[in-house]
Amino acid sequence: MSQGFIDIASSLAQIARGFHGRGWLLGTSGNLSAVVQREPLQIAMSPSGVDKGELRPEQLLSIDENARIVGQQGGKPSDESLLHIRIVKERGAGAVLHTHSIWNTILSDVYAADGGVRIEGYEMLKGLQGVRTHEHAEWLPIVENSQDMPALAETIGEALNKHKAAHGFLLRRHGLYSWGEDLVQAKRHVEILEFLLETLGRTLHIRERMI
Ligand SMILES: [Zn+2]
Repeated sequence: MSQGFIDIASSLAQIARGFHGRGWLLGTSGNLSAVVQREPLQIAMSPSGVDKGELRPEQLLSIDENARIVGQQGGKPSDESLLHIRIVKERGAGAVLHTHSIWNTILSDVYAADGGVRIEGYEMLKGLQGVRTHEHAEWLPIVENSQDMPALAETIGEALNKHKAAHGFLLRRHGLYSWGEDLVQAKRHVEILEFLLETLGRTLHIRERMI
């Protein structure tokens, strides 16, 4: 394994433990990846079925652009690897992070009929790459969940093309995907979007009780 892979694997494991602590990756849910090399594509990917609170750097897998393991490692890459690869290709992302928080799960269902969640007017929006003002309106598309990963990757590719300014998207009753030029930016985007989704959800809840 290259030093680049070892460093990225260590950062991914650290982020997984941190997100687990926030309740965004409970049990074996969610997955994380980062690009190690572009040509040919090599991605460090979290394994399937491993508790994200216990993820160790040596458990990260190296996969190619077809989600096949490169090298002699054991283990099975996450079922959602094809989705990560699609996002890397469509967005030129250097890292993709996927969380299963309570608030992203709830809002992905509440707003499903609208096709997305509109988040507008919050200072925290400025943490998203390229956003300069709280007046920004972020549209997080919602994609229907599926266990057919090649088909879901296609649907996600279409949604990313249609909503080129989006910093993430939701899978209905499933979770949030976000990404960044690198792991630091991807982590920031997840933190910002999780904050905003929780704020939105709690606000709806409080308003409901006040009526
Ligand atoms: Zn998932």
